[in-house]
Amino acid sequence: MKVAFIGLGVMGYPMAGHLKNAGMEVCVFNRTTEKAERWCEQYKGDMALSPKAAAEGCAVVLSCVGNDEDVRQVILGDEGALAGMATGSILVDHTTASASLAREINKVAGDLGIGFLDAPVSGGQAGAENAALTVMVGGSQQDYGVAKPVIDAYSKFSKLLGPSGSGQLAKMVNQICIAGIVQGLAEGLSFASKVGLDGEALIETISKGAAGSWQMDNRYKTMLADEYEFGFAVDWMRKDLGIAIEEAKNNGAQLPVATLVDSFYAEVQAMGGGRWDTSSLLARYSRN
Ligand code: NAP
Repeated sequence: MKVAFIGLGVMGYPMAGHLKNAGMEVCVFNRTTEKAERWCEQYKGDMALSPKAAAEGCAVVLSCVGNDEDVRQVILGDEGALAGMATGSILVDHTTASASLAREINKVAGDLGIGFLDAPVSGGQAGAENAALTVMVGGSQQDYGVAKPVIDAYSKFSKLLGPSGSGQLAKMVNQICIAGIVQGLAEGLSFASKVGLDGEALIETISKGAAGSWQMDNRYKTMLADEYEFGFAVDWMRKDLGIAIEEAKNNGAQLPVATLVDSFYAEVQAMGGGRWDTSSLLARYSRN
């Protein structure tokens, strides 16, 4: 099968590599050409100089760029992927973006006879490198059925959650849940330090009970060391919470904690921590 991958960032670069390793014919596009050249050298694939050119002749086209505006450029622009895609092909966008944009693209693609799936991912850089991502999908069962074997090349789990936009809505829930959990962990560790509890012994104990979480298991060591260079960046988290908070204005959902935590992340950015990982909520206490 011939596929295209647009956006060779921290996530897209290894994701596209897994497609090539799975035996697919892969053509990549990246805005910064050197990265595409490096990818081609490493994986022995092809590259194109526009999303449109990369998408030509492909059964499935995948993208993973930054935000809504970036998705508009690589998908809807004159040189965007849709301009090169044939009727009957399928576009899968792995960017974390708004549900309204997903529905808009679905409409434009549908009018051209092209399938569209919004399919944001969870699992971070390690998940992308180890082909262990979780993929939240919105779109039709038929398109998902065709794209799933491609998505399987870099994921450990994917699920169709409803019509167009549902993948993005699920990712918003994912980020809302993470925000509250990380803030709780930061407050707990700050409290522990104030009262002189041994952090290692404390986590060894409470992680076995109802307070345990992925964040606790994977981030407590670096948080105790006041180090924040280990994963999903604060700048990205603010983008994602902004999307969720905006969506909540439309659907009437209450997000008091996510909104507060978003303001805490703004403080972390003001401390110079835009590229720190999301557990840096603790730095608001440890470094102030
Ligand atoms: P990244 O490393 O910053 O890469 C972004 C990619 O998009 C780069 O290839 C960049 O090209 C390209 N791009 C951005 N704007 C563009 C534009 N206007 N036109 C063309 N190409 C453009 O980002 P990432 O970490 O891979 O994240 C990608 C998406 O996945 C984001 O939506 C993010 O929220 C989501 N995500 C990330 C993680 C994570 O842990 N990193 C986890 C889950 C979800 P250049 O190389 O030219 O800059």
